Amino acid sequence: MTLNDPVKTLKGVGPKTADLFSKIKVNTIEDVLALVPRGYLSYDEPVDIKDAVIGSRVAIEAVVQSYVDVRKIRKLTLVTCVVKDFTGSVKLVWFNSPFLKNVFHIGQTYVFVGTISSRNGQLSMEHPEYYTKQQYEMLTSTLWPIYPLTEGLSNKTVTKAVKSAFPLLDDMKESLPEQILKKYELMPRKEAIRGLHFPESMDAVMVCRKRIIFDEFFFFIARMRRIREKTIKSQNRYVVNEFSLAKEFIGNLPFELTKGQLEAVDNIWQDISGDTVMNRLIQGDVGSGKTAVAEIAILSVVGCGYQAAFMAPTEVLATQHYATLCKDFEKHNIKVALLVGSTKLSEKRRIYELLAAGEIDVVVGTHALIQDKVVYNNLALVITDEQHRFGVRQRTVLAQKGEEPHVIVMSATPIPRTLAIIMYGDLDISVMKDMPANRKPIKNCVVGPNYRPTAYKFMAKQIAMGHQIYIICPMIEASENVEAENVIDYAGQLEEYFGDTAKVVYMHGKMSAEEKNMIMADFAEKKTDILVSTTVIEVGIDNPNATVMMIENAEKYGLAQLHQLRGRVGRGDAQSYCIFLCGSDSKQAKDRLEILNKSNDGFHIANEDLKLRGPGDFFGVRQSGEVLFELGDIYNNADILKMANDAVDYAIKENYDIILPETDDVGISL
Ligand code: ADP
Ligand code: MG
Repeated sequence: MTLNDPVKTLKGVGPKTADLFSKIKVNTIEDVLALVPRGYLSYDEPVDIKDAVIGSRVAIEAVVQSYVDVRKIRKLTLVTCVVKDFTGSVKLVWFNSPFLKNVFHIGQTYVFVGTISSRNGQLSMEHPEYYTKQQYEMLTSTLWPIYPLTEGLSNKTVTKAVKSAFPLLDDMKESLPEQILKKYELMPRKEAIRGLHFPESMDAVMVCRKRIIFDEFFFFIARMRRIREKTIKSQNRYVVNEFSLAKEFIGNLPFELTKGQLEAVDNIWQDISGDTVMNRLIQGDVGSGKTAVAEIAILSVVGCGYQAAFMAPTEVLATQHYATLCKDFEKHNIKVALLVGSTKLSEKRRIYELLAAGEIDVVVGTHALIQDKVVYNNLALVITDEQHRFGVRQRTVLAQKGEEPHVIVMSATPIPRTLAIIMYGDLDISVMKDMPANRKPIKNCVVGPNYRPTAYKFMAKQIAMGHQIYIICPMIEASENVEAENVIDYAGQLEEYFGDTAKVVYMHGKMSAEEKNMIMADFAEKKTDILVSTTVIEVGIDNPNATVMMIENAEKYGLAQLHQLRGRVGRGDAQSYCIFLCGSDSKQAKDRLEILNKSNDGFHIANEDLKLRGPGDFFGVRQSGEVLFELGDIYNNADILKMANDAVDYAIKENYDIILPETDDVGISL
């Protein structure tokens, strides 16, 4: 057996399991070993029954108190039994496991592990795991890896595969030059991998993860350098020296540009009339008006006869931008086209032809814009919206379309300048610090589930005033394993609650792009009042008439993401509201949400979040919203990022051999 052999060479991995593995991009034995656990399960010491927190997973050590009752209810076999310790009793429930009758006997002691719930004052646990005291003691002394999985592939199967691949770990090659390991005091890669699979302690996990994150950053930066070497300091060959069209557009806007917008526009005008090609990051918090700046930039080049491309990370957002541009550019007789994944093939072909012929001025789209088939006539400007959502490849390919066009990237991610330079290279940055003058700060509240009736009454009032509402749920449909609100059931309940007084619709990521676009278009045209959705609406969506955002299970998201979600309201003149509904009693969850409750400022939130978590907290949700790295987070691991940057500089200076991994391209999530 060698590291390059396919996974199915491993004992216990058949062709079916191998197929499942390939879904999580695991094809070889080396891939199995390189899997990094998403977290670890630790078995905690048993608690007294009276201290078991309802809704949480606990272990109890208890004596079997009753005979095991087996009952048939329709097709279901229900097995129940009561257990107790000195502080209380719990009813255990299993389905379709009649053999348990012969497992438990009155008077025996076991450790039961499961989620505690309470019905009419009676505590219960469904499908608890059960162990003898000795078995359980073994469990508490180890950390159990939880691997990334896919449907049909269990953690048990993956763990087994890792175990049988383990002897080959010694053959694994080092990814970094020896000298870099020494200089930066890094542990060998295979030791890091070994430690991540079966760690002794969380401290050990931290050290190992650090090494893997270092690799991620190091090779990302090395790759960016290599790309940049080729594209650095290109001559500006585009003649853009008058901005009459853009100025006319500004004059016709229904609002005054903010100081930040004016400065950004000024920077862009300086850049595109300069000697070298523009490479600029426009950074502005959600709702600061980045789209208007993009429109002005587009008109600046289109006014001089060039083409522009505007790329967004999701179809929903691309479609919205397309609608905005069509409306805003109509009277200027500018031809705008939309190119997304779901565009019909015949339509795509037509657009390719028109683009190549120069008959389309502006093309808006998703990564469909960077396919090989797309040839531009005289592309002078590429703008990427929500830049942090794109993978490395997407970031660079579009910039290489045409002949080194001007590039603007836009992001709401409040990234410090030093990090920005590492991430995006030698680019110039315009920061838009102020919000449009008409805005009223969003009013926030953090509440528990018992607040729902109040929230619905409040929504009814807002709807009566003609406003619209977003409600976010983490799940698409009900799931046995996860306790969280889901879009489909939630929308059903709201329909019942509101009856004829409000039109409720729902949306989620598994719907087709056409469906999603229809739903968003209806919502934009105010045909619907309440949109219940997963986080597919997170980025960019702009409907200034929506005034209420309610986020169910807010504890399940990172603060950056919650801030993005909240940013869907408060985009017009009307007072807007954000209701964070916390489904957990944990103090930590509440403390985090309190940060959002107190501030609407993305920069401030990112900083506070960082302080609260400390660099050790990596199992929580990621905070930057970056999707480039699997483990690394440019905020939480800013120190490693800087170190890796330094190491790349050093390796290049010393001429060390850096072998880039074949592919580290992370696609678009969502
Ligand atoms: P983001 O920066 O989050 O992309 P958008 O560009 O979508 O924000 O702008 C949010 C809303 O604010 C839009 O409806 C837009 O028309 C409006 N807007 C943009 N600039 C201004 C301004 N200077 N004054 C008033 N409203 C503005
Ligand atoms: Mg935007």
